[in-house]
Amino acid sequence: MKRGAAGALDVAIVGGGIVGCACAQAAVAAGLRVAVFEGQRVGAGATAAGMGHLVVIDDDPAEFALARLSMTLWREWAGWQDIERLACGTLWLAETAAQQAAAQAKLARLAAAGLQADWLDAPALRAAEPRLAHDLVGALRVHGDEVAYGPGMAARLAADVRAGGGRIEEMRPVARLRDDGLELVDGTRVAAGHVLLAAGNDSVRLWPGDSPLRLRPRKGQLAITDRYPGYLRHALVELGYIDAAHGDADESVAFNAQPRASGQVLLGSSRSYRDTTPAVDAALLARMVRRAQRFLPDIAALQMLRCWAGLRPATPDGRPIIGRIPGSTRGNQWVATGHEGLGLTTATGTASVWLDLLLGRMPAIDPAPYAPERFVGALA
Ligand SMILES: Cc1cc2nc3c(=O)[nH]c(=O)nc-3n(C[C@H](O)[C@H](O)[C@H](O)COP(=O)(O)OP(=O)(O)OC[C@H]3O[C@@H](n4cnc5c(N)ncnc54)[C@H](O)[C@@H]3O)c2cc1C
Repeated sequence: MKRGAAGALDVAIVGGGIVGCACAQAAVAAGLRVAVFEGQRVGAGATAAGMGHLVVIDDDPAEFALARLSMTLWREWAGWQDIERLACGTLWLAETAAQQAAAQAKLARLAAAGLQADWLDAPALRAAEPRLAHDLVGALRVHGDEVAYGPGMAARLAADVRAGGGRIEEMRPVARLRDDGLELVDGTRVAAGHVLLAAGNDSVRLWPGDSPLRLRPRKGQLAITDRYPGYLRHALVELGYIDAAHGDADESVAFNAQPRASGQVLLGSSRSYRDTTPAVDAALLARMVRRAQRFLPDIAALQMLRCWAGLRPATPDGRPIIGRIPGSTRGNQWVATGHEGLGLTTATGTASVWLDLLLGRMPAIDPAPYAPERFVGALA
């Protein structure tokens, strides 16, 4: 890897979301001189809006590999002990015999990969999560999943960057990427050996190539209740959720609820390409609550405190984009974005893959499924 000139940075990172912060933390830990330029505050973008379900989804082998690597790295990270989180596991809820069969296939895949999971039949499910509707067929329980506070994860990574001698520059928006670094909106030029574009949805606007980056915002809405400690014990997800997440519908709703460390219940979630405004859509929220009542019949009795919406950076195939920007003349411009609804989980794996590519090392997992070439340039 080419280091920055004397006095220059080795790496300048655009964006202080979970992905930019994880990459910065990994690079500082590897001894590189790093600065993150964040247009607002650390974690202010999609990272602040996310549900924080750290979940190993196995439907796509590449996503599975990245999520598994990421969970290992989160747990190895010293800062992990400081994160507000619950090691509650996930219950994937089956309403029908067909979903039970799908859950059991999923169980076999998880077990083959060495993950701890089991099938709960209807009585076992009622004992595990008494507030659930009694007509459910059962649930696949995945023990290793957690829920965590996303903005806190980004802030803790940023603290590591600062402690390791890196810089986190907030309220410093970047105007463009340059061959020799960055140019900020205030005209300042930042010299760096390498630049990493990790600006979430805004990566499209800052993309330096001739062909546009194929990334689009996918809106999601969430609601959080007052504190009801013990109301839920696990993160709950309907098995149809993965179809909604991987599907391309203009708008969809799938039941997803979590206990939070605060005792609150976080309720999700929706997906929409149609509406990309930051506004909460009341009709969609009503749909989400109705869907939740199907699984948790008394949920409407809980006091909702707040609702919000955020924009997931979504790629056409649902996988993130990690690697060298095609056509980068000096080969020193990189990208890490497009994590859609899984970026809080997969940020550490992303950082590991990106840093290994930058340093010319063999990544821990095959980087090909995340190659930027698949959506830009000649292969687009
Ligand atoms: C409703 C919802 C629910 C979700 N639930 C989950 C979940 O349960 N589990 C999970 O793993 N993931 C979840 N996610 C996904 C996760 O939140 C995202 O994948 C992740 O936060 C993306 O991180 P990022 O760093 O790429 O983007 P962002 O967090 O958006 O960070 C990009 C940063 O770049 C900055 N920026 C933009 N332009 C510039 C510029 N010109 N100069 C400098 N800085 C700039 C922005 O201010 C921002 O802080 C959810 C997302 C949403 C919206």
